[in-house]
Amino acid sequence: MSDRKFHPETLMMSYGYKPELSEGAVKCPIFQTSTFVFKNAEEGKAFFEVAYGLRDKGPTEEMGLIYSRINNPDLEILENRLSLWDEAEECAVFESGMSAITTVLLEFLKPGDLLLHSGPLYGGTDHFIQHFLKKIGVTTLEFHAGQPREEVIQLIKDSGKGGQLSFIYIETPANPTNALIDIGCCREIANQFSTNDKPVFIAVDNTYMGPLWQHPLQLGADLSLYSATKYIGGHSDVIAGAVCGSKAVITRVKTLRTFLGNMAGPWTGWLLLRSLETLKVRMEKQAANAKVVADHLLAHPKVEKVYYLGHISPEDTMQYAIYKKQYTSAGAMLSFDVKGGEKEAFRFLNALRLVKLAVSLGSTESLAEHPASMTHAGVDPDYRKKMAISEKMVRISVGVEHIDDLIWDIDQALERV
Ligand SMILES: *Cc1c(COP(=O)(O)O)cnc(C)c1O
Repeated sequence: MSDRKFHPETLMMSYGYKPELSEGAVKCPIFQTSTFVFKNAEEGKAFFEVAYGLRDKGPTEEMGLIYSRINNPDLEILENRLSLWDEAEECAVFESGMSAITTVLLEFLKPGDLLLHSGPLYGGTDHFIQHFLKKIGVTTLEFHAGQPREEVIQLIKDSGKGGQLSFIYIETPANPTNALIDIGCCREIANQFSTNDKPVFIAVDNTYMGPLWQHPLQLGADLSLYSATKYIGGHSDVIAGAVCGSKAVITRVKTLRTFLGNMAGPWTGWLLLRSLETLKVRMEKQAANAKVVADHLLAHPKVEKVYYLGHISPEDTMQYAIYKKQYTSAGAMLSFDVKGGEKEAFRFLNALRLVKLAVSLGSTESLAEHPASMTHAGVDPDYRKKMAISEKMVRISVGVEHIDDLIWDIDQALERV
């Protein structure tokens, strides 16, 4: 019995927390403190040696608490628990998804490097790549879901910068179309362009699938990134981000985080610890609701097309194979094209009475939005068209409400179209 390996959902209530260090409190308190008292000067010295990498941690030595920009119990326990879902060695938590993403890109890229990335990307990430990274001399190259490996390799070769390829950044499923990218295929490309001095790293923004339904590290990625604002937080009340990976890559990420100072605070850590206890039950309920909503929309006369992973046909061999290989669920994000255009999409959105008209996703309440004029308003119109992000598209993040109420709301709103 003693060597039983508990499931992550079992460990979310206790893992990494020692009640005896907190007056026996069953739950981890909020350590609202900026700094920590050392027992003596020798201990302070020893903690700093480890924190600043002056020597390796001893085999039984635990990293001591120093200062809340470097470490804090709410953050450390959260990082330990988040690592479990991805079976990662380590995790680093940030004050937002964007700070997690930008810190990773800044750590692994330098002027002159080539960054290969999938498209479309989350708007904030796209802006950082196109504006900031280009400004500091990083060359970027984009590929899309459905492009075969040989074509992507040719693209890299044609750029004349294959020797400088140092990072591959992908989002799968793509937002809001749910198009899929093969992580294993990206690994093969990365390996082909890696040398001993210059390994090519792969990061996957795994926000859309939470930590539950896709495990990028097992599929060949080096880093699994999250906007913890979405499923991990799950209650639309906190902004946060996380990165999971090997000890070696997370040590690099945490070192830069220490000096950028963009770690999450203790309150955020505590809120996310609370959220993690219900992560699996929330996500499973959301996915079950999403399936009913997606099937219902597919059969509705006012709906032209539904973009939902559970509807990928086996005849769509490439996408279907990736779906089967990479995902354990069809998720709880779906989009659909209403018959008509922007006017009809807006009528639907304005008529919703239960589902909230808001961006963001992964929360307990269902949210609907219009990608073309909201989350993807900054995307070039021609590019939007190419990616099938049309004026008639509506995106829904399905929550945990009673399914009959959700279907009622969607039906009554579609009636106004
Ligand atoms: C929301 C989101 C982000 C950004 O996260 P923040 O927590 O808002 O900074 C990045 N990627 C994806 C896919 C997102 O949905």
